[in-house]
Amino acid sequence: IEQTAYQNDKLAMLGQISASIAHEIRNPLTAIRGFIQLLRPHLLQLGKDEYAKIILTEIDRANDIIYEFLNSSKPSAPQKTVIPIQSLLKEIVLLTESEGLMNGCEIQLNNDLTPLYVSIDIKQIKQVMLNIVKNAMDAMDPVGEDYSGIIQIATHEEQSHVIISIKDNGHGMDNNTLVRLFDPFFTTKETGTGLGLSVSYRIIKNHGGTIDVHSKLGEGTTFNISLPLV
Ligand code: ADP
Repeated sequence: IEQTAYQNDKLAMLGQISASIAHEIRNPLTAIRGFIQLLRPHLLQLGKDEYAKIILTEIDRANDIIYEFLNSSKPSAPQKTVIPIQSLLKEIVLLTESEGLMNGCEIQLNNDLTPLYVSIDIKQIKQVMLNIVKNAMDAMDPVGEDYSGIIQIATHEEQSHVIISIKDNGHGMDNNTLVRLFDPFFTTKETGTGLGLSVSYRIIKNHGGTIDVHSKLGEGTTFNISLPLV
């Protein structure tokens, strides 16, 4: 699946719009947040602390969305570091493991034993991996006591590239979702932004790599990311 010129235009436009309005929205949000904090003791006295909590959570969510927009609008020049990809993947597992377990989902890392060195912007590639692993978790259907959700992360070398595959046994995607996957703003989630994969796509492309996706409804999804080895 290729990101089209249309999608790139959309991303560029998103960049311009978000840069110009993000600050204008952020400032009032910060003010609202501050005053709610000040009102909180009063609300607590009235037994209405729940309201304060909801307001704060929602303000934070709005801020997160703006932050994501800003992030996607300014793809800062990659700060490249040479590291074995395995060490980054280990960190991803550490970061996501507990959230996974809470969702009844196990994360397995199946690393190629020889260190595979890549020259990457660690922050950006981490963002890509987190996006994909979180999407995999979101795709798990609610499960009971047994851990039936499994996310397998594996690496192997192929033609002077490392292939990182992230495989989940979640609900998979229908064709309509598959073709729109990398569209900015395309989401099937109630609180999704639809930015995760479009931004990830661009980051991987900037690193000289590729992303491809295989998915089967009711069976699961595999993302394969290739990055050039050093
Ligand atoms: P968001 O997560 O905010 O919806 P993304 O760009 O990360 O935005 O993902 C776009 C859509 O792609 C998701 O809403 C979901 O429908 C689909 N998707 C992504 N990853 C998976 C996956 N592992 N399994 C099933 N669907 C997925």
